[in-house]
Amino acid sequence: MDSSLNGPEPRYREKVHTVAGTLRELEGPIFIVSHVDPDGDAIGSSLGLYRALKALGKRAFWIADPPRYLRFLAREEEYSDPVERLPEGATLVVLDAAEPNRVAGAPVEGFVINIDHHGTNPRFGYLSVVDPSKAATAQIVKDLIDALGVQWSPEIATPVLTGLITDTGNFRFANTTPEVLRAAAELVGYGVRLAELTDRLQWRPAGYFKALGAVLSTVEFHFGGLLVTAHLPPGLSVEDSDDFVGFIRYAEGSQIAVFLREREEGVKLSIRSRGGVSAQAVAVRLGGGGHVPAAGATLRGVSLEEAYRRAKEAVREELERTGYL
Ligand code: 5GP
Ligand code: MN
Repeated sequence: MDSSLNGPEPRYREKVHTVAGTLRELEGPIFIVSHVDPDGDAIGSSLGLYRALKALGKRAFWIADPPRYLRFLAREEEYSDPVERLPEGATLVVLDAAEPNRVAGAPVEGFVINIDHHGTNPRFGYLSVVDPSKAATAQIVKDLIDALGVQWSPEIATPVLTGLITDTGNFRFANTTPEVLRAAAELVGYGVRLAELTDRLQWRPAGYFKALGAVLSTVEFHFGGLLVTAHLPPGLSVEDSDDFVGFIRYAEGSQIAVFLREREEGVKLSIRSRGGVSAQAVAVRLGGGGHVPAAGATLRGVSLEEAYRRAKEAVREELERTGYL
């Protein structure tokens, strides 16, 4: 794998300004989309940019289907339904999407602007700002909104801060740089109620807690505890099950955690790592992608057992590569 993919974008400032200048000049409609299974960064960065563009008087549309735990961020009338085609002269802004085929809500065609922080992003689009040194796409959107010269308000700052909070695990992960904390401090200064927001982001429906119990009863340790796995038991489908991997990743002595979920399209893997082990490298071996410490893949047309087998094999290779095995 090309490790230079994960480095900072050397022309970052210039690219942000180019995108800001382009957006400011646009007269046609602007469609804003993000990745399938949107997380706090996908929803937060896209909603923040949508509100900023509306504040500039642009004809902007936000195509999104937020998961239940993030729906409080937006008003019903703010999100639009998916479209099959984009109208003539439209611009598509794609946020936080590691690959064009993981974009939800609109075809990736025409005048595409790609804003993202995944090292594995193939830098698609007519214009792109892909900077893997940024903790969140929301961090890039913060700089973009500054460059657009939009007046900040709690309405715009709240979703942008949400992206920073969720992609840094409440400012705990290694991507929490001084720059992230400064951006967050600025956003709080624009009137976001931080404690209320972080509390609200953790709310889950009652069924979630029973499901968590069932998931934890599937926990297994492999390779002497270096790998911890769990899955969503078959028949159980829980909205907001995205953060289950966040529990098992704290198993003492583990360097990598894999959470498996059976879905219509295949088995979805969420992978988290630490200590020089790359979740990204494991995901890429399985046909997926993401960040070094947090990545994912979907194994199409395989059983749960087969997905476990392939995941363990890919993890074994990574543990051997890094000298743990
Ligand atoms: P999660 O486990 O939270 O779904 O995903 C972790 C990270 O990996 C996210 O940044 C997500 O965008 C990325 N990711 C998850 N699944 C895939 C995949 O199938 N392909 C690629 N390229 N990235 C993925
Ligand atoms: Mn992100």
